[in-house]
Amino acid sequence: MAKPSIVAAIQSGRILVSDGAWGTMLQQQGLPPGACPELWCLTHRAEVLDIARSYIAAGADLIESNSFGGTAYKLRHFGLAQPVVEINTAAAAISRAAAGADRWVIAALGPTGQMTAMGDVTEEDFYHAFREQAVALAAGGADALCIETMSALDEAAAAVRAARDHTPCEVLCTFTFARNRQGGYRTMMGVAAAEAARAALAAGAHVIGANCGNGLERMLEVVKEMRAAAPGAPILVQANAGLPKNVNGVDVFSETPADMAACVPALVAAGAQIIGGCCGTTPAHIAAIRQAVDRLGRK
Ligand SMILES: [Zn+2]
Repeated sequence: MAKPSIVAAIQSGRILVSDGAWGTMLQQQGLPPGACPELWCLTHRAEVLDIARSYIAAGADLIESNSFGGTAYKLRHFGLAQPVVEINTAAAAISRAAAGADRWVIAALGPTGQMTAMGDVTEEDFYHAFREQAVALAAGGADALCIETMSALDEAAAAVRAARDHTPCEVLCTFTFARNRQGGYRTMMGVAAAEAARAALAAGAHVIGANCGNGLERMLEVVKEMRAAAPGAPILVQANAGLPKNVNGVDVFSETPADMAACVPALVAAGAQIIGGCCGTTPAHIAAIRQAVDRLGRK
C-alpha cells in the first residue's frame, strides 16, 4: 500500500519523528573542515548513505538529505555551480535508497547566504536558485522539500513558491529563532514566530516550524506561538541538542538523548506533530525521541 502524504498522516493523528544532524555526522565520517559537504553525494556515496540509514535504523519516519547547501549560490563558493542538478539529484536518491518506500524523504534546502536587503539579489534570483534545486531533488525521489534554517521572509517565500510551482512535492518551511532580551523569539532578520508561520503558509507551505537555534525546551515557546498563529497547520520542530557552548572554538551541544526525549510530551501537547533534531543530535537522540513518541500511545 502506498504511504499517505505527510499531511494526511498527521491528520490521521500520527506524531512523526524526523532525523537529526547531518553536518556533524559527515565530519565523523571524515569530511575535512572547509570541504563541501554536498559534493560527498557524488564522491562518497557510501558514507552519506550510511548516515541516512543510521537515522532510519534509529526509528525516523522522515529523513532529510545531504543537500542543505545545495543552491548554486552556496555551491559556487566551492567552484561547483556546474553540477547543482547532479549533486541534488544524487542527494535525494541516496536518502530515497535508505528510506525505502515506507518512509518519507524530506530533502533539505538551506539559505543561499544572500540578502535582498543588501542589494545582492532579488526575490526572482532566489526563486530561480530554489527552483533549480527543488526540481533536482524531486527528480532524485524526494517526497517533500524541507526549506529550513530560514531567517528572511522573502527568501523563504520565494523558496516555497518555487517548490510548489515546479514540483509535486509537499513543502515544509522552518525558520531559526533566537530568544531576544525581552524573552520573545525572532529570526536573525527580526521576524517573529507568528509572522514566519503566516508568511510560510501564505506562500503555500504544507508544514511550518522551527529548526536549529535552540534546544527542545525553548522550542516549546516557539511552537506555542506558531500554533496560536496557525491553528490548523502541521508543525515540525528540529531542535539542536541544547544551546551550543563554545569550547576552545568548537560548538559543544550538551543535551543528552534522554534530555531531549523528556521534552517530547510537552512539545506534542503544545502542537508539534513532527519532532526531530538539528545540530549536535545523533541517531541516539532520534532513537530516544522515537521511544518518547511511542510512549505517548498514539498511532
Ligand atoms: Zn542546527
